[in-house]
Amino acid sequence: MNPLAPDWLAEPDDANDLAAGVWPDTIRRTKKGELSVGGMKASALAERYGTPVLVLDELHVRERAERTRRAFETAAARHGGSARVYYAGKAFLTSEVARWMLAAGLNIDVCSRGELETALAADVPAERIGFHGNNKSVSELERAIGVGLGTIVVDSPIEVERISAIAERLGTSQRVLVRVRSGVHADTHDFLATAHEDQKFGFSLEEAESAVARIRELPSVEFVGLHCHIGSQIFGVSGFRESASRVLELHERLLGGGPVPLLNLGGGFGIAYTRADTPAEIEALADGIVDAVANECAARGIDMPELAFEPGRSIIGSAGITLYEVGTTKPVVVDTGDGSAERLYVAVDGGMSDNVRPALYGAQYSARIASRTSEAPAALVRVVGMHCESGDIVVDNEYLPGDVVPGDLVAVASTGAYSAAMASNYNHVPRPAVVAVRDGEARVILRGETIDDLLARDPGLVR
Ligand SMILES: *Cc1c(COP(=O)(O)O)cnc(C)c1O
Repeated sequence: MNPLAPDWLAEPDDANDLAAGVWPDTIRRTKKGELSVGGMKASALAERYGTPVLVLDELHVRERAERTRRAFETAAARHGGSARVYYAGKAFLTSEVARWMLAAGLNIDVCSRGELETALAADVPAERIGFHGNNKSVSELERAIGVGLGTIVVDSPIEVERISAIAERLGTSQRVLVRVRSGVHADTHDFLATAHEDQKFGFSLEEAESAVARIRELPSVEFVGLHCHIGSQIFGVSGFRESASRVLELHERLLGGGPVPLLNLGGGFGIAYTRADTPAEIEALADGIVDAVANECAARGIDMPELAFEPGRSIIGSAGITLYEVGTTKPVVVDTGDGSAERLYVAVDGGMSDNVRPALYGAQYSARIASRTSEAPAALVRVVGMHCESGDIVVDNEYLPGDVVPGDLVAVASTGAYSAAMASNYNHVPRPAVVAVRDGEARVILRGETIDDLLARDPGLVR
C-alpha cells in the first residue's frame, strides 16, 4: 500500500483487471492480453484513428437508453401513471447519438442553439425536444418556438415575457415548464438541504407560483408543469425523494388554478468512475423515485402527473473509454512527513483538452494498460496530460503495472459523458475523434480535428 494513495483506492491483486460496472459492457482482454471493445482491438483503433481517441460502445449506450426508458415507464405504470425519458444532450450529442436515442424511444433535451440544431438536423421531431437554460437568447427562442418545440423550461420572469411575445408574433402557443429550486442541493454522494439556494438556475418555490400565475394570463404560453433538477452524479434516491416532496406541495397548490399535467424531476443519476463508486441500478432508482412521487400524491389526494426524467451521464458515461499513448514516465519521490514514497507520473498525449473534469471538479477516473497485460508489481500512478498546467490530470490516483513504458496504450474508463462534450483547444491541441464500435466494426461519429482546422480559424494565416 503506497501511503500517497487515497483511502478509497485499494492496491489491486491484479492491476490488469477490469472493475465491474466501471468499463463498457463489451470490453474484453484478448488472448494476447490486449483490450478490445465492441470487438475492436485497442491497437487497431489507435492505428486507424490515432490517439487520443474516444471510443463509444454503441450497444452499451443503446441498451442503457432502452433500459432507462423501460425502468421509468414500468415504475410509473405500477401506479397507473406514465413517464417519459429525455436524453440530456449536453452529456454528448451527435446526430448518431440522437438517432440511437430516438430508436430507444427517448426524447432529447438541449440547452443551446448548437445542440438544438444538431437534434433538428438529425431529424429528431421538434415535439420530442425539450429546451433548457438560464439565458436562452431571443434568437434561440425564436428558432425553438418557430419549429414547434415540445417544451421549453423557463428559467426567469424575463424569459416568460420573451416567449410570450415571440409565440404571439408567430401566431402560435408554446408549452412551458417552470424550473424550480427545491432547496435540495445534491452533491456527489449525498444531499444536504439548504434554505437558500444561491445559484443561477430557476425560480424559488415562492417565485414559481407567481411565474405560473403570470403564464396562465398569457394566451400564447401554455403552462404544463414544474421542472426540478437537483444536481449530477447522485447515487441514492433520498435527494430526489425530498425534492419531489417539496415540489409536489407547490404542484398541488397550482392545481387550484388549472391543470398541471407534467412533472419533470431532471437527471443526475450517478455512474461508477472507480470501483469505489457504487451507484444503484436504474430500475431501483426509478422505482424509488416514482414510488416516492406516488406516495406523496396519494397522501395529498391528487392524481400523479405524467413524469419526465432527463438523464445524460447514466446513459452514455460508462459506454466510453479514451485511448491514449504513453509518451514519458517519471518517478517522483514525495516527502510523506514520516519518510518518503514514490508516485509514478505517466504522461499521455492528451489531457485537460479532451477531458477537463479532473481539472474542473477533481473528478476521479480509472485506467488500465490497453495494449498488453503485465505481471509487474502494481505501482501507484498519476496519469497526466501534455498541457502546460500542473492540474492537467487525466487519472489522479490509480495502480498500474509498474513496468508501464512509453508506447503503451492506456485506456481511461467512463469518459462517454462530459469529456468530448466539454473538450477545448487549449494549447492549440486538436480535439480527438469519437468512434462508435460495435460487432467488430468502428466508425467515426465525430471527426477529430486537424492542425489545419485550427489554423483555418486564423484569418492572419494565408495558406
Ligand atoms: C445536466 C442536466 C441534466 C443531466 O444530468 P446528468 O447528470 O448527465 O444525468 C438533466 N437536466 C438538467 C436540467 C441538466 O442541467
